[in-house]
Amino acid sequence: MRSVKSLAQLQALGLAEASPALDAVAEKYAIGVTPAMQDLIDPADPDDPIARQFVPSAAELTVTPQERADPIGDLSHSPVTGIVHRYPDRVLLKAVHVCPVYCRFCFRREMVGPQGLGTLTGAELDAAMAYIAAHEEIWEVILTGGDPLALSARRLRDLMVRLAGIDHVRIVRFHTRVPVVEPERIDAEMVAALTASGKTTYLAVHANHPRELTPAARAGFDRLLAGGIVLVSQSVLLRGVNDDVETLAALMRGFVENRIKPYYLHHPDLAPGTGHFRVGIEEGQRLVAALRGRVSGLCQPAYVLDIPGGHGKADIAAASIRGGDGCFTVRDWQGNEHAYPPAG
Ligand code: SF4
Repeated sequence: MRSVKSLAQLQALGLAEASPALDAVAEKYAIGVTPAMQDLIDPADPDDPIARQFVPSAAELTVTPQERADPIGDLSHSPVTGIVHRYPDRVLLKAVHVCPVYCRFCFRREMVGPQGLGTLTGAELDAAMAYIAAHEEIWEVILTGGDPLALSARRLRDLMVRLAGIDHVRIVRFHTRVPVVEPERIDAEMVAALTASGKTTYLAVHANHPRELTPAARAGFDRLLAGGIVLVSQSVLLRGVNDDVETLAALMRGFVENRIKPYYLHHPDLAPGTGHFRVGIEEGQRLVAALRGRVSGLCQPAYVLDIPGGHGKADIAAASIRGGDGCFTVRDWQGNEHAYPPAG
């Protein structure tokens, strides 16, 4: 089995129909489905949650006025190519803009893919590293993109060696789909490449449905953990993929069972042509509240929205407390309200 990179290949596998609308989608946005994800798709299920994430849909041609090419405002916080410096103590380092899969809901869909922003040139990478070295307030470097693990182990090792030479950088965090969508790439060489003496490596595993946590993915998580890498999760709340509490609970439990601490549940961003994936914020809040009542505190991610325009993340779970002047009403997980402090 090979990675699918075109509509024609998807059609040959019976995963997409021939249609001018899909041709138009494929013209605009990259396609990528790895063998591991092809294997997971149930072609008999028209609503398959894995297919929905990777197989293009004519709905992607519907762009609403609120949607934008740079939904989380990366470009307004980019002092040099490849760096996004939104918060004082951390930067994004976007070394590469390709991915092994192309998620139909991707928030950077206008930047990734073969026609996207590409990989940093040597000179651009030098400038990005010089920026990090010159800013002593940068404690954490977050490699994202694109998928940073699309780079070879050799290039990742080179990056880590360069970061290891910058004393004030203490944490390196990778955001990646690879352990799930291409688990065979998580071999000893890759694991070694992701660590560097004196730095702590975190890796945020991107998965959206419990079926993605396959035995092969689990073996990859074990190799990463054995290599001393701390694992956290990131998921996107997606209509038709995980917008029910049973699926979310199974996903979060799956992470915890694999020693991956649930970290972020993203509200879907206003990327062009992704309206069919977006749930309402009130609906998201209800789901997150239901999750709180159902599964262990270990399984609770932060439900976050990247504020359009580059204003950073906000926790958007419904507040469970209101009031003031020392007198509050607190809501429990069943929706019942209680006074705090309780009446004497
Ligand atoms: S792997 Fe990440 S960057 Fe790549 S298409 Fe999916 S969401 Fe976008």
